[in-house]
Amino acid sequence: MKIEFHGAGKMVTGSCHLIECNGVKILIDCGMFQGGRDLDEENRNDFGFDPRSIDFLLLTHAHLDHCGRIPLLVKRGFSGKIITTSATRELARLIVLDSAHIQEEEAKYKKKRALRKGKKESSYEPLYNTVDALNSLDFFVNLSMFQKGYELAPGVQVTFFDAGHILGSTCILLEVREKGVKKRVLFSGDLGCSGRAIIRDPAPAPDSDIVIMETTYGNRLHKQLEPSIDELFEAINTTTNRGGNVIIPSFALERSQELLYYIREGIEEKRLKKNLQVFLDSPMAISATQIFQRHPECYDQEASQIFKSGRDPFDFPGLHFTRETAESMALNKVHGAVIIAGSGMCTGGRVRHHLKHNIWREETGIVFVGYAANGTLARRIINGEEKVRIFGEQYSVRADVHTIGGFSAHGDQQDLLNWHEQTNSPDTTFLVHGEESSMEVFSKLLSKTKVEMPELHQSYEI
Ligand SMILES: [Zn+2]
Repeated sequence: MKIEFHGAGKMVTGSCHLIECNGVKILIDCGMFQGGRDLDEENRNDFGFDPRSIDFLLLTHAHLDHCGRIPLLVKRGFSGKIITTSATRELARLIVLDSAHIQEEEAKYKKKRALRKGKKESSYEPLYNTVDALNSLDFFVNLSMFQKGYELAPGVQVTFFDAGHILGSTCILLEVREKGVKKRVLFSGDLGCSGRAIIRDPAPAPDSDIVIMETTYGNRLHKQLEPSIDELFEAINTTTNRGGNVIIPSFALERSQELLYYIREGIEEKRLKKNLQVFLDSPMAISATQIFQRHPECYDQEASQIFKSGRDPFDFPGLHFTRETAESMALNKVHGAVIIAGSGMCTGGRVRHHLKHNIWREETGIVFVGYAANGTLARRIINGEEKVRIFGEQYSVRADVHTIGGFSAHGDQQDLLNWHEQTNSPDTTFLVHGEESSMEVFSKLLSKTKVEMPELHQSYEI
């Protein structure tokens, strides 16, 4: 049996691992490289294998860095089967169509810029377009059930386990019998942490011989969730009581739904005002919320009970979905409301319009609940810059800025260690999906296993 790493080698994006066993080729994830121009270009390079030769693609979850290159894989000749959970299939559809749209827009912009500079023609083409993305959706078949084995090929069985990371997310176990020897190969995908709202905790990891695991936060411990929810409610109450708007830049998938869930809970527990007005101002977050509403099979016990009692865990009287641009613009006139809008790092999307209208007002509260990379508008506001540029104009930052760190979809060092412990001393552990510094720290904490940190396109006999 052979394993090759064609993404997420000593980095956090581009997840794509290839297993060759019993005459079949199985890909685990086919994600996009993200983070700067060099990595963007990496997406255009050869996959490191022939897409036409792949029999199965098993998808752990719907984040872009795990599913974003699927349309390209199909465009370059993949004709196998894509197997994943039903919730992941729906979310991946949303993510790859959005990605195709963004790439089409970027290509258009770059062509226009080239023409403006007097260049005759620009050869810039999108990585894939909307038609490619739609075509790739035809290859999703045979939806998996959690913890129910499925025979991919003679001697190759696959089982999906709950990863507790985002709706529909899984860890994938391959059980391979080759020349009379049975090996259990476990892919962590991205792992969540225990006790989060909506989705179940990660399932206990099964005994394994080979483990391929993520290490995003292999060197860090998270803040606790409960105090973070208290901070969120406090920020909402103080801001709305003085008549200001609460602007929450948020990622469309998972974090926005978590916010709605906690706000509903806060209203029911009378910790937030009964008539609190909340606007979810992101077409993508609205679509993602509707997908969450359609997949109660992924809920944890608490969310399930709410659903079974006939209520909607993501709805409350003051919630408004503003899908249309005109509705979004009308929010410039509201006061004392909560506005949740993308993008989480304020690099694009409608949140920049809301910042433009509110950031210079003393009564405003801006609440950051997610990761903000260096150089982004979100990071500049978090760092306390007094003036920031939005749409080419300078604005004074007079709003109250809150940074709340306890909401994470990724397990921290302790969660990762606990999960690895459950795999019961595997022969080899491959660390992927993490910065090298994080992997180095984490690798020193693992004992009773050989640790490997593969480079991009590195291959191993296992
Ligand atoms: Zn993820």
